[in-house]
Amino acid sequence: MGAGHAQTLFDKVWSDHVVMEETADTPAILYIDLHLIHEVTTPQAFTLLREKGLPVRRPDLTLGTMDHSTPTTPVRSFKDLAVVGEGAANQVVKMQDNCRDFGLELFGFDSDNRGIVHVIGPELGATQPGKTIVCGDSHTSTHGAFGAFAFGIGTTEVAHVLATQSLLQRKPKTLAVNVSGRLQAGVTAKDVILAIIGQLGVGGGTGHVIEYRGEVISAMGMEARMTICNMSIEAGAKAGMIAPDDTTIEYLAGRPRSPSGADWDKAVQRWRELPGDPDVIFDKFVDLCGDTLEPMVTFGTNPGMVIPINDPVPGAEGDPGFRKALEYMQLSPGKPLTGSPVDVVFVGSCTNSRVSDLKQAADILRGRKISPGVTMLVVPGSQQVKHEAESLGLHKVFEAAGAQWRESGCSMCIAMNGDTVPSGRLCVSTSNRNFEGRQGIGARTILASPLTAAASALAGHVADPRSYL
Ligand code: SF4
Repeated sequence: MGAGHAQTLFDKVWSDHVVMEETADTPAILYIDLHLIHEVTTPQAFTLLREKGLPVRRPDLTLGTMDHSTPTTPVRSFKDLAVVGEGAANQVVKMQDNCRDFGLELFGFDSDNRGIVHVIGPELGATQPGKTIVCGDSHTSTHGAFGAFAFGIGTTEVAHVLATQSLLQRKPKTLAVNVSGRLQAGVTAKDVILAIIGQLGVGGGTGHVIEYRGEVISAMGMEARMTICNMSIEAGAKAGMIAPDDTTIEYLAGRPRSPSGADWDKAVQRWRELPGDPDVIFDKFVDLCGDTLEPMVTFGTNPGMVIPINDPVPGAEGDPGFRKALEYMQLSPGKPLTGSPVDVVFVGSCTNSRVSDLKQAADILRGRKISPGVTMLVVPGSQQVKHEAESLGLHKVFEAAGAQWRESGCSMCIAMNGDTVPSGRLCVSTSNRNFEGRQGIGARTILASPLTAAASALAGHVADPRSYL
């Protein structure tokens, strides 16, 4: 965009990173500031590099962790961690070998920095405003909470970034989502993003980068903002972003990988210039009123099939896909989900596994017992989160209530590490995806906030958290 044009936050980050402009025939070449890698989407990428005899171009801008395939069962020593399944074990071994052979930093089993890739980037301070950040994982959009342009890439693109530290990209359009007003007690960031996806639909953000704005977003802490940006992809968006402000800068101050001294002052000055110009025009604009939002729950097999917790499940209206989703979920239209018996409750995932999420769940559970028929897993997003939660005594609250307190990892968000929901069972989950089989073959998933998840564990059925506050 030329001088004199008002720019969005996204426009500014994009134009700062374009190595070569796009043309009608070729996409732009975009420079990448941070490449996060994990064990699932990298083995083929490293094979490609080996075949072509290429090194990793910028090991210093590449950071590895293990999260998807790693078990979360508590162990006395990390030497005792047994990876479940041959496929997962191979991925873990390959990740260790590849990072060693290519000279890359890896937070392995015994590292205090290990955790879900989208939890560790921010907590280390590696995620910063104005950066371009990629990872072979859809929920890379999480890092946009800091005003970074962050998006998921495929395996071939992972190889491309490893070899060149750049990527071919078409410039997406911009979509502003404005959330005005103030949230009521019992309504959280997870409810806001589920309501936004419900309004936009799962394809509503396609081809766009969403910028979240308004009083509700400004009032949120960084962890809540990460929950919002995390699920941008579930509305089909390329990425989600929030303009950096005092909250962002305060969060990053003193983190291990944040700039320090004079570099910190320079960085803050740069970050302060990133928010969009006041008179900027977005390609699309959507408004949502925060005052009237309620706790939200999904009832179908995509995150856009979502309702306020006391509303009845809508009718199929002749839509075969809709009918199939309700059949899979074993739900009938016309009745609310509250009261549906719950078998499993999962608090965790890159959407809701940070200390503030765990505090919310603990506030509901404190001094109470979960229903005898419910299995509840609480899985911190990283070892750092685990240590902090334990120093606050949250693990004791969970264990006293009858929940399991685990090691960090993706756990029940994705059925590939030994933590699964049995077939046919209903799980209230704080994760981000509810398609058929996501949490295990035949598993039925209701996406909800940590408050709703904890309330449902106590009640033994889907429950409105406001009655436990
Ligand atoms: S927690 Fe779930 S969504 Fe997040 S990175 Fe892990 S598998 Fe992906």
